[in-house]
Amino acid sequence: MPELPEVETVVRGLQGCVAGKTISEIEYCAPHLRKLNLRGFAGKVAGRIIDSIDRIGKNIFINLDDGAVFLVHLRMTGQLLYCCQQVPEDNHNHLKMNFVGNGEALLFRDVRKFGHFIHIPAKKKSAYIESMGLGEDALKIEADSFVEVLKSKKRMIKPLLLDQSVVAGLGNIYVDEILHRSKVHPQKISSGIASRKLREMYDHMQRILRFSIENMGTTFDSFSGVNSEPGRNQNYLLAYNNAGKLCSLCGKRKIKRIVVAQRGTFICTNCQRP
Ligand SMILES: [Zn+2]
Repeated sequence: MPELPEVETVVRGLQGCVAGKTISEIEYCAPHLRKLNLRGFAGKVAGRIIDSIDRIGKNIFINLDDGAVFLVHLRMTGQLLYCCQQVPEDNHNHLKMNFVGNGEALLFRDVRKFGHFIHIPAKKKSAYIESMGLGEDALKIEADSFVEVLKSKKRMIKPLLLDQSVVAGLGNIYVDEILHRSKVHPQKISSGIASRKLREMYDHMQRILRFSIENMGTTFDSFSGVNSEPGRNQNYLLAYNNAGKLCSLCGKRKIKRIVVAQRGTFICTNCQRP
């Protein structure tokens, strides 16, 4: 599933190719996405200009010049692709937004169909975003707030970091990487972790996320940027998906796969002690 660095890669791609473009039409929108939208939304967006694109956690906001917004969540396999309007037939293309003038389009492709693409009118926008209950974005949160929010909970650190209402943007891959690099066992109770250690974890989180963004994210199967280019960060992961490989931090034990809170989890049993 795309996490913060992958979503940020898409946002940066969109900023480069669709910001400032005028929407000519929503050429099609699959029934499962139509259900998420208010009736007649397609008519309301024709002629609107895309003002800006931003992100909170894994949620993409495509802001229009009338104050409305498209909220996009890629979930498991969603992709936003910038392409020409004459695209080959593909059952996985669920929404197509055409632009005025240059014969180009934005496609929402999603094999598993868990993704969202929702038009939210200006007057409903702030209430809608508030109802999402997101915590601070993992890239923007300050160190003090990060330490404070984790210290204030008595929960296992891995599921806590995965909880989007606590910190927004992390998923299974980056949580495993952050905990491994910080040498913290994923089942440790957050309130019992020293503040100094949580601060270290914050620094690792910032470095790991930024490094992955530089590498255009992690691609294991379907993730790509808006021009279909895969990420390269999978080549630099030290824990996630590395079971059986020698831990590169201690060089003593092999990375092991365990299950924490029903999630496959990769740890070094030497570096990360319960
Ligand atoms: Zn180790």
